[in-house]
Amino acid sequence: MEERTEIQRRRPADNYRLNVVQIPMLRALGLGILCVYVLLYDLLIAPPFSLYGYLTFVAIFATYCLASWLILRKGYKKVRPVDFSLVFLVVDLSLWLLVVYRTGGEKSLLFFVGVVLVSHQAYTTFKRILIFGHLALASYLSFVLYLAMIEGRPIDWGIEVLKMAYIYGANLYLAFTSRPATALRRRSAEITREARRLNWQLVKKSKQLEVAKRKAEAANRAKSEFLANMSHEIRTPMNAILGMAELAMTSDPTFEQKRYLATMKASADVLLQLIDDVLDFSKIEAGKLDVHPIAFRVRDTLNDTLEVLAARAGQKDLELACQVSNVVPDFVIGDATRLRQVLMNLVGNAIKFTDKGEVFIRVDTTEDDRASTTALPEEEGSLALHFVVTDTGIGIPKEKQQIIFESFVQADGSMTRRYGGTGLGLAICSQLVKLMGGRIWVESQVGLGSSFHFTVRLLTDQGTTGEQKPAEPVFRKALHPLRVLLAEDNEINQQVAVEFLQLRGHQVRVANNGKDVLQTLASERFDVILMDVQMPQMDGFQATAAIREKEKTTGIHVPIIAMTGYAMKADRQRSLDAGMDGYICKPIRSQELYEIVESFTPADTKANNDLAPLLLDNE
Ligand code: ADP
Repeated sequence: MEERTEIQRRRPADNYRLNVVQIPMLRALGLGILCVYVLLYDLLIAPPFSLYGYLTFVAIFATYCLASWLILRKGYKKVRPVDFSLVFLVVDLSLWLLVVYRTGGEKSLLFFVGVVLVSHQAYTTFKRILIFGHLALASYLSFVLYLAMIEGRPIDWGIEVLKMAYIYGANLYLAFTSRPATALRRRSAEITREARRLNWQLVKKSKQLEVAKRKAEAANRAKSEFLANMSHEIRTPMNAILGMAELAMTSDPTFEQKRYLATMKASADVLLQLIDDVLDFSKIEAGKLDVHPIAFRVRDTLNDTLEVLAARAGQKDLELACQVSNVVPDFVIGDATRLRQVLMNLVGNAIKFTDKGEVFIRVDTTEDDRASTTALPEEEGSLALHFVVTDTGIGIPKEKQQIIFESFVQADGSMTRRYGGTGLGLAICSQLVKLMGGRIWVESQVGLGSSFHFTVRLLTDQGTTGEQKPAEPVFRKALHPLRVLLAEDNEINQQVAVEFLQLRGHQVRVANNGKDVLQTLASERFDVILMDVQMPQMDGFQATAAIREKEKTTGIHVPIIAMTGYAMKADRQRSLDAGMDGYICKPIRSQELYEIVESFTPADTKANNDLAPLLLDNE
């Protein structure tokens, strides 16, 4: 059953070729060899040679070959159910017997050709070979019986049995050896069929995908256009709301009304920000977002941005600090608005996702080749800046660190209600940074905090290089180097202040908390103390109180400068009340730091009367 299906499974064209072309050719070749053998037999073994007799024999063979071939050609497919090919294969046996008869009958050496005939069948099936094997044996047996009984020849039965055993054995052997070949053919046929089927499916699928892709692209374009239009439409009334709220504020509202208006304005601001994000996002999607380079000051832009965010950091009691490497030129050319937007997003996120600790921004130049992957080609007079926004917040799990840069993705869906947001900010940042020729990435550890890095490629402003130097006089060595004690618990902030002070030639000693300060003061003398107000174990106020208490006995007054958060005005007053001599706001700017620290240069190194009123003022 299985074998028949194997034949049936073959393509009709293959069967036709086998039966009408290949087998007739093999037949002609085989019969041709037999004719040569008969010729040699006539010439060498049984002379005298009769040409007429021989040609008659050849003519019979040739006629058979030609006739069988023609019949197959004409009738192979048409005359069903007769399988002519099979008929001729059986008739072949009688031609074989004719040759055996012609070359000596039972003495002929051609008995083995019965095996050769079977090998024709090796192309088809095991069963067919087996049938032909038995047929060949039966034919030879009847042939020998004919010789013995009709012609009365003396037969050596021992030899004949041996010959028949040979024919039978060899045919069985051929039948069995054909089995693996058959199995192999079947498998490769199956594999080919499967491959064809898969290929067909693949072609079909990719056509479907192509259609789906085109549809999705069209839908996406429509969505982007809709978003862009909507954002524009919403902005107009929003502006009116904001403007009117501000005007109402100036129209002498009651306390209660003022509160309502403030809330209204704050909500409208948030909404406007959201709309801006959506607008940017849709612009990015539609490929319409581009950069507008102008000349701007890096430090000013940074300060302006942080000033806006400082209030938010202040509300959460977070420290906000910033350090710009002095190799960063002040004037550059780039899209300041977009740069500010990226910073706003990253610092805003850092504040949002940090409950305790600090947010620190660092800016440096970079050689990072990857900074110049897109948009702006690296060219003469361009430089890459590397920004890092570090926080001590909740952190981001490793598996989320890539996907948060995709649109609408938030590291934890459940956080949304706690922290708010749309998941658009980082997607926009990522696109903006790309447009500015840089890249963005994050390093983060859950529970410890995150560092968002980005690079942008900017042009150095050749025309304003003269103005680029204002940083220089700031970093000139101070006339009177001071011994400064820096009380600060945060390592990065320590680093910033130490670097600034050392650049001016001051000596700095670091204390990690209030207790540390008291211990250090017991063994060393300082010209001025820079005191962070928020510190573990003993904060700045407590430490100042303890120092001032001690001074009552020693009589030596050390000036103390408070370092307070950006927008914590209350802290400033509190620090003065606690006995401090001055204050400076974070993020610390070098110029401000030098001004205040150096204003406390001791009397013996400065003109004596310089210091006196200052001390009097504050005591
Ligand atoms: P949004 O803040 O509006 O949800 P963003 O694209 O700005 O959208 O941020 C995507 C997500 O990345 C946030 O929802 C948050 O889960 C995570 N994320 C961004 N910044 C920080 C950060 N500084 N610390 C922890 N998680 C952050």
